[in-house]
Parts: sequence; C-alpha cells; structure tokens
Amino acid sequence: MPNKADWSEQCLKDCEKFVGLRLMRDEDSLNQANHDFGRLVKGDCSGVAIPHNIAQLKLLVEYANRHHLALTPRGKGLSEGGQSIAGFKSLSVILTNLNNIEAPDLNNMTITCETGANWGEIKKACLSDGVIPEVTMANDDITLGGVLAVGGIASNSHIYGPVVSTVESLEVLTGNGKHVKCNWQKDKKLFHSSLSNLGYSSITTKATLRLRRFKKYTRSWTLLFDSLDACIDAEVNLKCNRICDHIETFTIPCIPGTRFNKGKREPYAHWVYALHLGCEYDTPQSPPTGENFLPYINFWQCSDISDTETVEFYERYQIRFKQMHQTGDWNRPHPWIDCFISASSLSKVLPEILNILPPQVASCRFQPINDRSLPRLFMRPPTNHLFALAILPMGVDEHMSETILSKLKYINSMLLAVGSKRYLSGWLADFDRDEYWSHHYGDEFEFREAMKKLHDPNKVLTSWALSPEAEACLESA
Ligand SMILES: Cc1cc2nc3c(=O)[nH]c(=O)nc-3n(C[C@H](O)[C@H](O)[C@H](O)COP(=O)(O)OP(=O)(O)OC[C@H]3O[C@@H](n4cnc5c(N)ncnc54)[C@H](O)[C@@H]3O)c2cc1C
Repeated sequence: MPNKADWSEQCLKDCEKFVGLRLMRDEDSLNQANHDFGRLVKGDCSGVAIPHNIAQLKLLVEYANRHHLALTPRGKGLSEGGQSIAGFKSLSVILTNLNNIEAPDLNNMTITCETGANWGEIKKACLSDGVIPEVTMANDDITLGGVLAVGGIASNSHIYGPVVSTVESLEVLTGNGKHVKCNWQKDKKLFHSSLSNLGYSSITTKATLRLRRFKKYTRSWTLLFDSLDACIDAEVNLKCNRICDHIETFTIPCIPGTRFNKGKREPYAHWVYALHLGCEYDTPQSPPTGENFLPYINFWQCSDISDTETVEFYERYQIRFKQMHQTGDWNRPHPWIDCFISASSLSKVLPEILNILPPQVASCRFQPINDRSLPRLFMRPPTNHLFALAILPMGVDEHMSETILSKLKYINSMLLAVGSKRYLSGWLADFDRDEYWSHHYGDEFEFREAMKKLHDPNKVLTSWALSPEAEACLESA
C-alpha cells in the first residue's frame, strides 16, 4: 500500500476550492465522525465532507486520487466496529445529503434512491401507494448505502433474503472516480464487489430496489418456547413452507433466583425463546387464524395475538429505540456481534453464549434467512438452513465493559470456530485486519482484492476497520 499523503491544512483548503464545498474541521464535527454507534473505536480523521450532490462527491474522489489522499464513506455511523470511521487522517465523507428518492415505479415495482436516503424516508415515499421495498429495515435512521455495504436483515428475510438480494441495479462511483451503472448482468463483477463490501472499492450513489405490495393489516403472534430446538425447528418449517410473512425470535431471561458459582452468589437465568410471527391480510372481518401452522408448532404458550395496520407494524421497534434514548442506552458502548450460522451450530452454541454473558446484558435475536440469490461477497457458511444470529448486549457500562468485551471476544472466536461468518455491521472484536479479511472472504478474497486493484488502484477508499495501516486506538468504553 502506498503511503498516503496527509490531508494537510493546505490540502483541505485546495480541495474546498476544487470541489466548491466547505470541509469541516471543528472539534464537534471531528469528534462525531471519529465515533460510531459501537463507541468502542476512536478514529483520527482530518476533516469532514458532506457533499450536497453526486457531482461534488465525484470531484472529491478526483481530488483524493490526484493527491493520493484517503476518503472514508459514511452514512449515519450506526455500525459498531469502525467500519465508517476514518483511520490514519483520512477524510470522513458523510453521504446523507445524497438523499433524492424517485417516485415508486409501479409498473416495474421498483424504487430508485440515492444512497444517503434513510429507510424512514424511503418508506414514506412508498407507503401511500400501498408498496414497500421487499426488505425494509426496522430502524428508520439507517441509510440505504450503509445497509448495502453490509447486507440488511429484516423479519421477512426468510422470504426475500437480505436487502442486497433485492437490488435490481446500482450506480457506483469507483475509487478511481468512474461513475458506472451495473446490475446482476451488466458489469456484474463491479456490481458484486459493491455489495456487502463496506465501500472497499466503490461508493454506491444510487440503487434500484424491488418493491412488493403489502396487505393492509398484519396479525402477529408471540409464541413462547422453553426448548431452543423446538423453536429453531418451528422457524425452519415456517420458512420452508413460506407460511408467515415475518419470523424472528428473541431470547428472554427469566431470573428464578440466585446461585453460588465460582466463589460468589449471583443471579442465574432460565432462558425462554419468544418467536414473533406476522401474517399480512386484507379483510378485517377474516384475519388469519393460524390454524394452518399453530397446531404443528411445539410451543409452550402463546403470550399475545394482535392485529394492527401493516404500516404500524413496520414501526414496531421505534418504541424500543425511543426507550434506548430515554434510558441513555443509546450512548453507551454497543459491542454487538452478528453472524450467519447454520441451524445445527445455532442450537449448539446459543445455550453456551447465554450461559457466558450476564443475563441482564445478554439479548439475542435469531431468524432464518433465504440464501438463494446473494451477491458474491455476502459471506455465509454452506448450509441448508441458514440463520442470522445477533448478540446485542444492552446497557454495557464503563465499569463492566472490559469483562463483557473479553467474554464477547471468546464468543466471537467460538462462532468462527463453528464455521459461522460475521455480519459486517457489528463490533468485529479483536482482529488482525490483514488476516481477518482473508479469513472472512475465504475463496472470494482474491476476487475482492482484484476488484480493489482495478477500481481503486490508489487505495483512496479506506476506513479504520478496513485498513491494516490504520493507527486508531481502541477506546476503553
Ligand atoms: C439500533 C440499530 C438497529 C439495527 N437493526 C438492524 C437490523 O434490523 N438489520 C440489519 O441488517 N442491520 C441492523 N443494524 C445495523 C445497520 O444496518 C448497519 O450497521 C448499517 O451499516 C448502518 O448504516 P449507516 O447508514 O449508519 O452506515 P455507516 O455505519 O455510516 O456505514 C457502514 C458501512 O457502510 C459504508 N458505506 C456507507 N454508505 C456507503 C455508500 N453509499 N457506498 C459505499 N459504502 C458505504 C461505510 O464506509 C461503512 O463501511 C442496526 C443498527 C442499529 C444501531
């Protein structure tokens, strides 16, 4: 890797003139860009650019190429392991102003958006026409570009796969400044290297996503299991038979008491699994009864059945996010670990994970994933029954962070040892960056590197997580 030149004050000034854009270097802007939602990594950016349009972004990339300077694309910074953080004095490029959204194309059932648009904005542009992107993120703030750079898992990914499977076409700006349209057939190598690749060799400027018509109402069931295997079996069967529109399970600790363990008394948990199912329907007088699947599921109790408008159903997590802001959880460290794992490995490792983490912190979600048409760099284990598992420790305070982090590092290595592949949005735990990426991309590593060489020969695009040379330091939370 050629040594990158520094974004000196003179460079920043020259670049401002060249692009016609003010580059921020006040303490507040730098501080925000040097952190992400994970709050475990601290960056070292030289400045912050927020281009107003694609033309300005192109000029920025051109300037960086001419002067061998580094750029780090960023959406909302909601990833957790330095993926959107600028290391070694790179310039943070926040893409949220590139947020134009075209009207839904109801003939072709697609919508075309600039990638700085967030999911709240994209939903809003669709819902009044009775359509929605096939896979839609639960968190409204996340940008389309941020999701395409990782994958995008939602409660109907057992039908449509992750968001990246629902992309019809992309417009990308390569690291060497070429603006190219590509899809599954045309310039397909560039297309594949632009998805689930953390903006490693190109910045995605626009994407066309497939839409689906939703039904007006959704009935949801919450089924409680005290057997993990029964819950996983139910999810596999429901996925294979395409019975429900939405499937996801959350782990819930019941604390029956305390016990003496390794020299001290502590609370212990009995884990229950809450399977959330949703079926859409159109006629309020005849909601789905569940008779075609409930008798075949070996659950312990049904804790809730409710009906709501589908538009409201899509808002169901906003209350949780609001609560996280109110309790201060939003601003605490989030060493979240997500991965793709086979059903059999999930059944083996999840009980151990829940045993390792303190019950008040452990919070996991798992769901089946359709893996039929995934882009090349969306890495997952070979299996007939693919699951996404998210370990989402909440309320990790400074005083407990070291203990929790070392437990999570152990869990990370346990997950990799059973052949799972990390989902790239989370905290990536302890890693040697060179080896990490070759291990993660496996057989596709050479393809990824060849595309980098071709489309970003000056290695302009980088981030704290991607670059082996980044010199940022791990912050103790
Ligand atoms: C509360 C919360 C809930 C979440 N829920 C889910 C969920 O249900 N399902 C799920 O799949 N994920 C979920 N996530 C994870 C989230 O989808 C990813 O972390 C996503 O990458 C964040 O988007 P962002 O806009 O903040 O991107 P950033 O964090 O800013 O960037 C992420 C990566 O994308 C790259 N990037 C950003 N824009 C572009 C672009 N236009 N072109 C190329 N590269 C780009 C960045 O360089 C970086 O590598 C959740 C995160 C949070 C905080």
